[in-house]
Amino acid sequence: MPLGEFELIRRFFAPAAGHRPDVALGIGDDAAVLRVPAGVELAVTTDTLVAGIHFPPDTAPDAIGHKSLAVSLSDLAAMGAEPAWATLALTVPGVDATWLAAFARGLSALASAHGVALVGGDTTRGPLSITMQALGFLPAGRALRRSGARPGDDLYVTGTLGDAGLALAGLQGRRIVPEDALQALRRRLDTPQPRVAEGLALRDLAVAAIDVSDGLLGDVGHLARASGVGVTIQVDGLPVSDLYRVHMGAECPWDLALTAGDDYELCFAAPAAQAHAVAERFAALRTSVTRIGSVYSGSGVRCQRRDGSAYTPGGTGYDHFAGPVS
Ligand code: ADP
Ligand code: MG
Repeated sequence: MPLGEFELIRRFFAPAAGHRPDVALGIGDDAAVLRVPAGVELAVTTDTLVAGIHFPPDTAPDAIGHKSLAVSLSDLAAMGAEPAWATLALTVPGVDATWLAAFARGLSALASAHGVALVGGDTTRGPLSITMQALGFLPAGRALRRSGARPGDDLYVTGTLGDAGLALAGLQGRRIVPEDALQALRRRLDTPQPRVAEGLALRDLAVAAIDVSDGLLGDVGHLARASGVGVTIQVDGLPVSDLYRVHMGAECPWDLALTAGDDYELCFAAPAAQAHAVAERFAALRTSVTRIGSVYSGSGVRCQRRDGSAYTPGGTGYDHFAGPVS
């Protein structure tokens, strides 16, 4: 018997509802009813994932479920927000119970890892597309914006850059990557881990932050513009994985780390006087953090080699309407 819309929602998405006492009414009515604690501001973000654009068409359904929430949690992390609730607008070509079960499993696992309750959504038929909205809590007036960087601040990034971009380049045949390395790199592309704890830890340390989703260079450009400052990135010090180092080869080793998307790391500015506190805070989290540059009075983003010479990357980051520039 074909699965009806309501049975589908009950079977696959009710398990992601979780058990949060601040959900007065979750999945099942015309709208969710949520209790916002006193003194809290809500951070709200929405992202759409389209098959073939935001993930390769052959991506495993549980990875698609994971990634559809991960990208939104990454946005909340960049605001310093604590994730609480999510809604899901899902468009699927048909009812494929195996696909839906795997998608929901990936989504539910990440939701429960971060204590997020799925409180509602919409389910329609059409070409595969997933729109996730996530809502998170912020102490009133304490959002980590893009606009707070000042001349003299240091610029940092968490984790490593470029693995997801290298995976995509390998899958698309733009670079030759051996199969075992490709599998490992692909985990970064398919199941990014949003830096939620790191975002919370940055609340009283960072003065500006952004998540790196469309390529470091472009995203740092957004932060610089919003803050009305210029940023210098020291390319020799960019954090990359061992796999990246090995498989990018000698020529243009930084370009994917600078311009490829899907890293979902946090990039932030902090006053130079906080350098010790930043190092300590991230050591406690067991997350690597690297100072990648500095903020100056001016505008734009410039890349520099160790000897002070300018470095011109072979691309500028991903823009859905302009397309990749390379
Ligand atoms: P309505 O027609 O009143 O909008 P729907 O039939 O779209 O109601 O949805 C019924 C209930 O199921 C609502 O509470 C809605 O939020 C929830 N819902 C629908 N699709 C999803 C989904 N993909 N994930 C989570 N909840 C969903
Ligand atoms: Mg509806």
